[in-house]
Amino acid sequence: MIIQLKQQATQKEYKKIVNYLKERNFKIKDVRSENVIVFGVIGDTSAIDPHDLYAFEGVDKITRVSTPFKNASRAFKAEDTIIKINGITTIGKDQFTMIAGPCSIESETQLRTTAKHLKAKGTHILRGGAYKPRTSPYAFQGMALDGLKLLRKISDEFEMAAISEIPSADLIDTFEQYVDIIQVGARNMQNFHLLKALSKSSKPIMLKRGLSATIEEWLMSAEYIMAGGNPNVILCERGIRTFEKYTRNTLDISSVLAVQELSHLPVIIDPSHAAGRWQMIDKLSLAALAVGASGLMIEVHPNPEEALSDGAQSLKIPKFNELMDHIETLTPMFGKTLK
Ligand code: PEP
Ligand code: MN
Repeated sequence: MIIQLKQQATQKEYKKIVNYLKERNFKIKDVRSENVIVFGVIGDTSAIDPHDLYAFEGVDKITRVSTPFKNASRAFKAEDTIIKINGITTIGKDQFTMIAGPCSIESETQLRTTAKHLKAKGTHILRGGAYKPRTSPYAFQGMALDGLKLLRKISDEFEMAAISEIPSADLIDTFEQYVDIIQVGARNMQNFHLLKALSKSSKPIMLKRGLSATIEEWLMSAEYIMAGGNPNVILCERGIRTFEKYTRNTLDISSVLAVQELSHLPVIIDPSHAAGRWQMIDKLSLAALAVGASGLMIEVHPNPEEALSDGAQSLKIPKFNELMDHIETLTPMFGKTLK
């Protein structure tokens, strides 16, 4: 961290902030010029919020040199992380892992029909929401525990791994019993109480990017999970809120590249929630592959017109099969192995 003082800053003001930092075991490297006092703060500054230091009189500018997230950072661990999913598949590095399934688990038949076709096309992770975060309290809220039980049953039937979104920390034990990956939804990305509780879980966590979260905030949320002892975090870009209304969200495709520079964690793309329209899923999925994402999460429904949630962004099974054909053809071109 580099701190620059105002030109008119006094020696007393300089001493005050320097002493504050030294008392916290930081070393100070003074690199002042004739006109301006500038100094480096050496040590692990991840626990300092630079904004707080503006409380000191005389401070002009504070620049972070290292990232505030340590465990998640590329500087901390250079090689890409590969996450094992219950002996069934892996996510990360030069692999392209498919996750697919309905937005909501609606019935045994719906889930089994979907899973059967997904598995036949080589998808090994089945998604299905059981506790749905809906904007309206009158909309379908999910099948709750019955949904999770169905997800486990059908996943086992087709030897697939299961992923579902957790609504709150009190359900961690239940989720650990029924799923292989715990999904943290966009709306919960900064539920720090939940993240801390998940840091004690043995399950991999898929952390979706918040609706209006910066990349740094997203990685700080990953840091919460990792700092508490769970290194298995998969990031998922699902689009962010912008002024654009045509699509449900705006797919920030460049976030994949940013995350890969900043972090060793795998990052996948969910084009379904990003676009909100099934017509766009195929092309956005290919863009995800081209940009180097570690996989996709796609909503698929046997009959989207009748879906209880997100039908407009769900692929019919034949469309999903077409997408898989495209992905299968193109993965080698981008140096990826389809998982
Ligand atoms: C979902 O995956 O069904 C979901 C609700 O996603 P998000 O949290 O990205 O809105
Ligand atoms: Mn959905």
